[in-house]
Amino acid sequence: MNKLSSEQILNFDRQHIWHPYTSMIDPLPVYAVRSATGCTLALADGRELIDGMASWWTAVHGYNHPVLNRAAADQLSRMSHVMFGGLTHEPAVNLCALLVELTPEGLNRVFLADSGSVSVEVAIKMAIQYWSSMGLPEKRKLATIRSGYHGDTFGAMAVCDPVTGMHDLFSGVLTRHYFADQPRCRFDQPWQEEDIQSMRAIIEQHHNEIAAVILEPVVQGAGGMWFYSPHYLTRIRQLCDAFDLLLICDEIATGFGRTGKMFASEHAGICPDIMCVGKAMTGGYLSLAATLTTDRVSNGICSASPGVFMHGPTFMGNPLACAIATAAIKLLKSQDWRKTIAGIEAQLKSELTPMAQIPGVADVRVLGGIGVVEMDRPVDVAGAQRYFTDQGVWIRPFGRLIYIMPPYIINARELSCLTGAMAGFARTMADE
Ligand code: PMP
Repeated sequence: MNKLSSEQILNFDRQHIWHPYTSMIDPLPVYAVRSATGCTLALADGRELIDGMASWWTAVHGYNHPVLNRAAADQLSRMSHVMFGGLTHEPAVNLCALLVELTPEGLNRVFLADSGSVSVEVAIKMAIQYWSSMGLPEKRKLATIRSGYHGDTFGAMAVCDPVTGMHDLFSGVLTRHYFADQPRCRFDQPWQEEDIQSMRAIIEQHHNEIAAVILEPVVQGAGGMWFYSPHYLTRIRQLCDAFDLLLICDEIATGFGRTGKMFASEHAGICPDIMCVGKAMTGGYLSLAATLTTDRVSNGICSASPGVFMHGPTFMGNPLACAIATAAIKLLKSQDWRKTIAGIEAQLKSELTPMAQIPGVADVRVLGGIGVVEMDRPVDVAGAQRYFTDQGVWIRPFGRLIYIMPPYIINARELSCLTGAMAGFARTMADE
């Protein structure tokens, strides 16, 4: 039981605790959570909310899952952490064996990192160190697409969208990379060859200084929840092969089934040279990510001076996180998750598509377990959260987007509550 009342929690929080992307002078309201089980968040004030966010793509199996709880408790009774320098353990071996098995052919070498952003830093470092080892140290720029998001650390920030990201704030500090136009061809539309021209032009002109192309495969998440044609990825892979660039796929948000495939790059049938995974990997229990690469890249890095890969975080390979991640991935594999995601996708399509008729709705799009309603103007986040919590659901919009990616365990009734609340809120915006 919490010893603090809801008010005590909120008062202290408001005075002293920073929340993501928020002001300490005039913060957006926050809601105190007492516990979470299945698809339900129980607030400290007694209200219950159906969760539409899976805690930012992570809690795919729902909260307080007995299998994951048991994995955590078992591992806790053995050891929660030991340093990874000079030591290894079964939880890391089990997890990495699963990752090598599940990811596209050739991704054999695993670097465990403590968050998605760090795994992106590691991926960028690997690409640059690889070319340096190959005697081409001038290849240290990246090429990416606009509207991407790869994390909040400096290396990752430098490849986030230059307009909606933090480039202005940190200009002069961030490395300048190459940004191609965002592919506009939608996921299910016939491919338009002109979509690749912008990236092709960049690569043709600058390949001598580019180490890698980095992008989120098929689904651009925090940069705008946009789903683009898998054929774009096919073309990118061809360009990378033709001009000898590495391809980094950031599967942190898309990995572990969210788009209907285990990894979104499978929609194009391509294999990246470096892949980042995270978020859903631990079922949302603890922060853990991984960067996988090929023999070619890892051998390349290690075959020239200094002969080692220069990264090693304190909590690398945390056994507790590895044990839970292993259990979460096995749990996913033991289910017919493709059918589950297909069911969520069908329901999202049938319940969200009619929202396109509501005045003020600019676009509706659905892919796998992701449903997006784009408004024609920014959503008032505080007002939206008040509305949604009053309706008994947890949905947190950003920008012009009202979107959900619920836990895979959500049932049809709960999902209808989420889509009903999205439609209700869009109507209130239309009435304003
Ligand atoms: N890449 C992508 C595609 C992401 O969606 C995120 C997180 N939203 C990150 C990287 C960064 O991960 P983390 O927040 O765990 O650092």
